Amino acid sequence: MKDLKVYKKHDGQKTIVKVKNVTFNDGSFNLIAGPCSIEDRKSLEKTAQLIVKNGGKLLRGGTFKLRTSPYNFQGLGKEGVELLYEIGKKYNLVTVSEIPSICELELFIEKIDIIQVGARNMQNYALLKKLGKVKKPILLKRGFASTVDEWLLAAEYLLSMGNKEVILCERGIRTIANGSKATLDLNVIPHLKKISHLPVIVDPSHGTGLYEYVEPMSLAAIAAGADGLIIEVHYDPKAAFSDGVQTLSLERFEKLL
Ligand code: PEP
Ligand code: MN
Repeated sequence: MKDLKVYKKHDGQKTIVKVKNVTFNDGSFNLIAGPCSIEDRKSLEKTAQLIVKNGGKLLRGGTFKLRTSPYNFQGLGKEGVELLYEIGKKYNLVTVSEIPSICELELFIEKIDIIQVGARNMQNYALLKKLGKVKKPILLKRGFASTVDEWLLAAEYLLSMGNKEVILCERGIRTIANGSKATLDLNVIPHLKKISHLPVIVDPSHGTGLYEYVEPMSLAAIAAGADGLIIEVHYDPKAAFSDGVQTLSLERFEKLL
């Protein structure tokens, strides 16, 4: 394990991930915000406008949703990717969306700025090998039952194939704690900062599962040294097609900022 590329070789070693006007791991703090799922142009645009108004630079949006139930909303697919691309371009926002499989590789390479690998795909090694050859940053979420070593080995797949632009994202894991949907492992931030040179961000939306907990855990993640946050925001969370219960309204989002 000692010689892995994900590990720091010396104190102060940092991998800087740069995409357009955004830099991760140079001491700046980056906030990625947007809906769990992209639903239509109007709602995505409202969110984009709010982000711009508050000085934000990154817009997230689920397009091909990996849902636990096949009966739940599966996302707009390619149409969602096109919408994110258009709105990102219009408002000069860096876009983030989750790639569901190898099949969508070309589409994501062409249209998305930061390609997200979700918790369910963290150990999809065929996908990781392909993404290791891509010249785009990869936001690699932690699997919800994955150890830090398994997570870092997933990152190693990307690094070993040549893609050094990896952002690690803690999004909550399954533990015996049952006060919320997941246990947001904030210990992992100082731990990763100690052993790895990669940027680390936190997802307090999936990490708590409840909108009321997003603000305190966002602050906690920042205090623990995270390089950024990825947060679900929607103009009307109660009407959101997915994850409304953990999604911030525009008002709550502004309050958090
Ligand atoms: C998401 O960010 O939209 C998502 C599905 O997250 P995760 O893979 O962490 O569940
Ligand atoms: Mn979600």
